[in-house]
Amino acid sequence: MPETTMATCTIVWFRRDLRIEDNPALAAAARVGSVIPVFIWCPKEEGQFLPGRASRWWLKQSLIHLNESLTNLGAPLVFRKSDHVLAALLDIAEATGANQIFYNHLYDPISLVRDHQVKQCLSRAGIIVNSFNADLLYEPWEVNDEKGQPFTTFREFWVKCMDMPAEPGAPTLPPKRILKFSGPLRSCSVEDLDLEDELEKDSNALLARAWAPGWANADRALETFINGPLMVYGANSRKVDTATTSLLSPHLHYGELSVRKIFHNVRMKQILWVKEGKVDAEESVNLFLRAIGLREYSRYLSFNFPFTHERSLLSSLKFFPWRVDEGYFKAWRLGKTGYPLVDAGMRELWASGWMHSQIRVITSSFCVKFLLLPWRWGMKYFWDTLLDADLESDVLGWQYISGSLPDGHELDRIDNPQIEGYRFDPYGEYVRRWLPELSRLPTEWIHHPWDAPPSVLHAAGIELGSNYPRPIVEITAARERLQRALSDMWANEAANKATLANGLEEGLGDTIEVQGAENGFPLSMDVDIGPETVHRGNQVSFWAKSPHDQMVPTMANGVTRSASGAFPGNVDIFRNRQENVLRVAPIEQKVQVLSSDFERAVAPSPDAEHENDDMDSTAESSSARDLTLALGLPVCSQYVPVFPVRQSGSQVPLVPDLHPVLISRQHSHMLPVMKLEASKVENQIEC
Ligand SMILES: Cc1cc2nc3c(=O)[nH]c(=O)nc-3n(C[C@H](O)[C@H](O)[C@H](O)COP(=O)(O)OP(=O)(O)OC[C@H]3O[C@@H](n4cnc5c(N)ncnc54)[C@H](O)[C@@H]3O)c2cc1C
Repeated sequence: MPETTMATCTIVWFRRDLRIEDNPALAAAARVGSVIPVFIWCPKEEGQFLPGRASRWWLKQSLIHLNESLTNLGAPLVFRKSDHVLAALLDIAEATGANQIFYNHLYDPISLVRDHQVKQCLSRAGIIVNSFNADLLYEPWEVNDEKGQPFTTFREFWVKCMDMPAEPGAPTLPPKRILKFSGPLRSCSVEDLDLEDELEKDSNALLARAWAPGWANADRALETFINGPLMVYGANSRKVDTATTSLLSPHLHYGELSVRKIFHNVRMKQILWVKEGKVDAEESVNLFLRAIGLREYSRYLSFNFPFTHERSLLSSLKFFPWRVDEGYFKAWRLGKTGYPLVDAGMRELWASGWMHSQIRVITSSFCVKFLLLPWRWGMKYFWDTLLDADLESDVLGWQYISGSLPDGHELDRIDNPQIEGYRFDPYGEYVRRWLPELSRLPTEWIHHPWDAPPSVLHAAGIELGSNYPRPIVEITAARERLQRALSDMWANEAANKATLANGLEEGLGDTIEVQGAENGFPLSMDVDIGPETVHRGNQVSFWAKSPHDQMVPTMANGVTRSASGAFPGNVDIFRNRQENVLRVAPIEQKVQVLSSDFERAVAPSPDAEHENDDMDSTAESSSARDLTLALGLPVCSQYVPVFPVRQSGSQVPLVPDLHPVLISRQHSHMLPVMKLEASKVENQIEC
């Protein structure tokens, strides 16, 4: 790296690290010369995962807030709206003569590929690129088992994290001042980014009443939580109707809060409570840190298994006969399934962009287990509507409930929403708040109105099938259907194995590919088929690495199954139903060179038109204006998941065959005792 002088000018590329405190990229840049803080809004590159209305509102507020802070420090944020991040960065570098670009790591598969390409092209253009960890306690490549393999159960992962030789680094203070770049610099206003349109502003004004985005507000929210609800977090975290959890997730998603700061501040409180003998409070801290651990794990999974936003971690689900049923999907989204707790959750989500974690588990389980809808539809709908929409956490949640993880819900587990209702909303207050049509129903019947005597329903003004639906699927029928689907899945899987054993092509038994339920994303989203390895002669070339470099999962070096289909060669997963065995192939943690010269990277994609279609999926979540329920609640009418169906024979990435590393649930009791009260951690992740 060339020596830096005070003449050094560094672009700090802000993304989801919208804070000035404990921001390593900003701090490093401020130390060596003038700084150009930049935010580039590039909806085209977000593709299918363009944030929904609520999330975009948060982003806008957070940027306004960050810009104020940076302006006070000396260098306002430069805003750009562009079709290509790389082109925008190169343009700024050229216009200013900036010779360095610093940014903090992201771990979702789309960003991993994009950032890697950007880094290569900038390096080729002679610009020094440095990237840092601002989002995690430990980088994903730092946490491995004794064989250097990534963990595939949360418990093992978290035990290891809490047992690392060095505690996570202490958070750093904001720079005292930032030296501004002195020349002229083109920037648009935050309004010009078009993060919200005129029609969305009314709905967004409601969000502003309840939430205060921005890093300083995040800091205050953390303080308030630590000095209040944290002490009773353990006892209260299952109360779905009150704000007893930290409510930090949207702040964390946009990096307004440093997770290292959370860790250290919470730990200090814990030490104090231990001294004071407050056992329950100490346990609350363990549970809260475990929640933070789940967030870490979501990034860990995404990094190590970068296909999990598209496909299950366990390969069996590939053979699950999903019901591609628009009617069911619509009823679920509108909160019209006839199960009050599920419906209340879905109406809350639509109206407020929020749901308690437990309600997320209940509504998502219902979508997958009762209705047999493809989990990715639900995941995408959550992505489009949640205020804290976060791809890695969303994927973890949906994989967890759909039996896709070795330590998640079992695939054949189906929870009764009536029983869940009395467990999590014993007095029916939550249901009454979100389903006014049931507000006069006595608690005795609130979670199963279909059993209520006609006189009770009449007195409460309820006409089942008219102003509140009957159950969309009876619980016994749902159980039977799930069992049938599971039998079909095992049969499909066995047939597929037999086909493969006979040396024939895989795929005939794969209903998922045919229906487009599991593998429905456009090719441009397939991290495992985009990049190719660049060879110079017989040599694979690698970019020079710095200790701060972000590792990149080996998305590019997959074993090619056929001329048309490639898949990641690093991961190999299969679960035997009886033994619950997960097999994982060794992951190679080396940087792959992706083929991406500048022209190719900035050239419009041939699928550009279709990419725009994909964005329509978020338009629905922005259209609260269109319809209102009789109750006055906003509803969505025609949400159609925009997952184009893959044609059989096209480049569908397949879950590869077996490799012999076995990780079995039965072995979990042999794990070492976790520093943070592992004994309290159940076998299953409680998302
Ligand atoms: C189907 C499903 C989808 C989900 N989608 C999202 C999502 O898009 N964005 C999101 O931030 N969370 C998601 N979660 C996780 C969890 O529900 C939320 O993080 C949590 O409810 C946020 O509330 P809180 O900040 O008060 O959490 P707290 O209980 O106070 O937890 C503190 C922090 O820990 C992290 N955390 C807690 N639980 C989880 C978890 N299960 N997975 C990952 N991180 C966790 C969050 O960053 C959270 O802010 C999802 C869970 C499920 C089951």
